[in-house]
Amino acid sequence: MKPTSSIRIGYGWDSHEFKRGIPLKIGGVTLEHPKGLGGHSDGDVLLHAITDALLGALAAPDIGSLFPPSDPQWKGADSTVFLKEALTRVRQAGYRIANLDSTLILSEPKIGPHTAAIRARISELVGIPGASIGIKAKTPEGMGTDNAAIAHVAVLLEEVERPAKPKISNNKTKSKKA
Ligand code: MG
Repeated sequence: MKPTSSIRIGYGWDSHEFKRGIPLKIGGVTLEHPKGLGGHSDGDVLLHAITDALLGALAAPDIGSLFPPSDPQWKGADSTVFLKEALTRVRQAGYRIANLDSTLILSEPKIGPHTAAIRARISELVGIPGASIGIKAKTPEGMGTDNAAIAHVAVLLEEVERPAKPKISNNKTKSKKA
C-alpha cells in the first residue's frame, strides 16, 4: 500500500514482564538490574514500540505479524533486527523520520540516569538527532503493573523530496520536432 500524504503519524505500544536472571535491555541499551524483560526475543519493550510505530505510520503489518513469536528463528533475537526492517520499509516508501517521542512506564529501575545513553543509542539506530527523540519515564502508580515495563511511542514521518526532473526548454523541444 503506497502512503499518499506527505506526513504520516505512527503510534506503537508494547509491554513485557520482568523476569529474574536475564539482561534488561531498553532502547538497545543493557541496564544493570537483577531482572530483565522476558519475551521470545530480547524483550526490548522500547525498540518494539518504536518498530510498531514506524510500521503503523506506513499502515504495514505489525511486528508480531512480520516476526511471529511462534517462529523459532526469532527466539532471543536482538530487537534491532526488527527495527531495521521497519526502517527499510520507511525508506522504501519514500519517507524519513521527522521526530519520535516515547513514554516508558515501569516501577524500576529509574530511567533518568540512563536517558542520555538510551537517546544516543536510538539516535544511532534510527539516524535522527537526539534532539528529535523524546524519552520520558513514569512509575505505574496505582496501575498494578509493577512487574512489567510498558512503552508508548509516537513517530512522525515526512516524505523525502525527490530530485526534480531536469527541465527541457520549450525552444529545444520545438527545434527537435521541427
Ligand atoms: Mg514486545
